[in-house]
Amino acid sequence: MAHILDERQLQVSVAGTNERTIDCNKASLAGSVSQRACVFCGSRVVLYPISDALHLIHGPIGCAAYTWDIRGSLSSGPELHRLSFSTDLQERDVIFGGETKLYNAALELINAHKPKAAFIYSTCIVGVIGDDVERACRMLEEETGIPVIAVQAPGFQGSKKDGYKVACESIFKLVGRVNNPIPAKSINILGDFNLAGELWILLDYYKKMGVHVNATITGDGRVEAISNAHNAALNVVQCSGSMNYLAKLMKDEYNIPSMRVSYFGIEDMSDALYDVARFFKDDDMMDKARELVKEEISRMMPALAWYKERLTGKKAAIYVGGAFKAISLVKALRLIGVQTVIVGSQTGTPEDYELIKQLCDEGTIIVDDSNPVELSHFVKEKQADIFIGGVKERPIAHKIGLGFCDHNHERKEPLAGYEGMINFAKEIYATAMSPVWKFTK
Ligand code: SF4
Repeated sequence: MAHILDERQLQVSVAGTNERTIDCNKASLAGSVSQRACVFCGSRVVLYPISDALHLIHGPIGCAAYTWDIRGSLSSGPELHRLSFSTDLQERDVIFGGETKLYNAALELINAHKPKAAFIYSTCIVGVIGDDVERACRMLEEETGIPVIAVQAPGFQGSKKDGYKVACESIFKLVGRVNNPIPAKSINILGDFNLAGELWILLDYYKKMGVHVNATITGDGRVEAISNAHNAALNVVQCSGSMNYLAKLMKDEYNIPSMRVSYFGIEDMSDALYDVARFFKDDDMMDKARELVKEEISRMMPALAWYKERLTGKKAAIYVGGAFKAISLVKALRLIGVQTVIVGSQTGTPEDYELIKQLCDEGTIIVDDSNPVELSHFVKEKQADIFIGGVKERPIAHKIGLGFCDHNHERKEPLAGYEGMINFAKEIYATAMSPVWKFTK
């Protein structure tokens, strides 16, 4: 594989041929144009769906390009999260310091928008010039009476995954601030960001089962519910890449157990419901979960069979942020007759890749922290028909001339839950079968 840099050879594996564990969980190689984003981006995408909080980016205006548009998280109430604020640091601020500018900007915004909390994000330049953001936040908190949290996320400190950890630490600073009574069988949903309203589909399922959802972290998130999150009986963690650390912090401090779930595909969605019923050891809840699953599956199977008949024989490449999602995608694609020939992720762990290796067909390329050159080669070598990824993979697919399915932050159709599985099949069919691709060959 000449297109893979020597130092990256161990980060690529082929199912059925390489027995060794894939090399992963490490910093990106200099010179390899990683698909990963910066620490600030990681913290921003996790935190900003908290819709009644103010999100102020302390840095140059360019960092503020990470706006609501990069993760269209929907809110059922306030929409303050959709506004992007920046201190717009200029040359003078870099030389003389931007702390006063930050204090004044935050105070003005808090007075104008009356948020329930404020998150102040440090970016690369703030890490370099050393503004004391913590001190500014303490002063603001005293002055305004709301939680003002410093999100220490200078981009150069690592990658997006490190930003997830910073976000979890910031959320944790809210947890435990209020004690509102909630039903005993309550859960927090961690790691769903309510893209295209996906969270609302899940809330409906849990409601039908008799499970109370306390805090949703962070999709359609509210400061008060998050502040009360320590009173729930269980943390249900989706997208474990971003939220496992918060679950760990809550376990250590409040002894709240957690479970890892995925809401993509029939199998994993059903397990997510059964596992919660099992946790509460509640027969009635389990019966309701079974009833719901039965009803949904019988409703959707004829539609899925239609897609399977037409898609059988197609090949897919997957490159996503978290490997746990990739695992669900391989299963969901198999359900509609599509074979996965490439699977990669930005932040997978050895355990994730081991699972992927066992799940995939022989010859499937498995790759960690890939780059556009590698991905383009893999796609051509394996003659994939569809690429499933996020905004940074879209141009790779389209330049090569193959169908693309957005399964990342920017999606506009819900892909989670049973309804999401139908939408997923529809999207894969529409893009893989589009007549446009014949003009690119
Ligand atoms: S790498 Fe630094 S400058 Fe670029 S977006 Fe991230 S924080 Fe801002």
